[in-house]
Amino acid sequence: MAQLLDGKTLAQKIQDDLKTKIPDWVAKQGRPPGLAVLMVGDNPASAAYVRNKERACEKIGMASFGKHFPADTTQETLSEAIAQLNEDEQVDGILVQLPLPKHLDDVALLHQIHPDKDADGLHPLNLGRLLRGEQGIRSCTPAGVMEILKAYDLSVAGKKAVVVGRSILVGKPLALMLLAEHGTVTMAHSRTPDLGAVTREADILVAAVGKPNLITVDMVKPGAVVIDVGINRVVNEETGKGRLVGDVDFANVVNVAGAITPVPGGVGPMTVTMLLQNTFLSYCRKLGV
Ligand code: NDP
Repeated sequence: MAQLLDGKTLAQKIQDDLKTKIPDWVAKQGRPPGLAVLMVGDNPASAAYVRNKERACEKIGMASFGKHFPADTTQETLSEAIAQLNEDEQVDGILVQLPLPKHLDDVALLHQIHPDKDADGLHPLNLGRLLRGEQGIRSCTPAGVMEILKAYDLSVAGKKAVVVGRSILVGKPLALMLLAEHGTVTMAHSRTPDLGAVTREADILVAAVGKPNLITVDMVKPGAVVIDVGINRVVNEETGKGRLVGDVDFANVVNVAGAITPVPGGVGPMTVTMLLQNTFLSYCRKLGV
């Protein structure tokens, strides 16, 4: 049986650590770190994610400045809101909850967030810094994956890493982070022929696709580290009940992998935690420490 990589416990540990540090900072600086989350419309999944982020802030003593806008909000209104938050001394991190309604240009808004307040690490300057191997704010989900590998002493150097999925949110930045840790990195995607032949080479296999059971047991090298980023809701046809699964056929892959993240309880909790950590680090940097 594979070792279980418990992202939930690790996330809790990092959040507890932040919770312990923040009161000292508040005493010294007169204010807590602050995160502003902009949400447009009432997409239930987005609303749940935003609530989750706001609750996580509260729990560790970070200020959260939720800004909820109606679905017909204009680009100009959002643009002004970001400009104000960029100037706001209480705010260290800003994020725009995606997806946005179709009439809005999310990339233009991302560009507008001050790179030092880019809590999600998706501003082109921060992605460019990652590409160049410079210090900068790292995207939350891939940073969460790297934290899991580090916490479990799973070294990347010299290993063959395969990342399935090439989104700007997960796959691409993660491939760069694995490369920075000296992995030999291959990226696979929807046009990759014979995906199994590629994934079977992996010492570290990451699935970030959004397709339940895409990674089956025959696609995994025995002993490999398997990181499942996917989050998919599947409904049991008999009971009508929904549950979350990843991209990996966990029940079978757990028998051949060396280590594996579960879904839920693996990468997911680390993503929110990295958002808090990014905001805290921006706060510290602003104070020159
Ligand atoms: P995207 O839809 O943006 O990207 C999916 C990627 O998977 C694309 O690069 C696509 O290839 C590739 N792909 C699609 N089908 C296949 C296939 N059959 N074989 C190989 N590759 C394929 O998704 P995201 O990157 O935003 O998210 C991926 C998953 O991770 C989702 O389930 C999402 O919910 C989850 N997620 C989880 C987070 C967490 O905190 N755990 C955070 C963010 C996302 P192509 O480029 O060719 O189209």
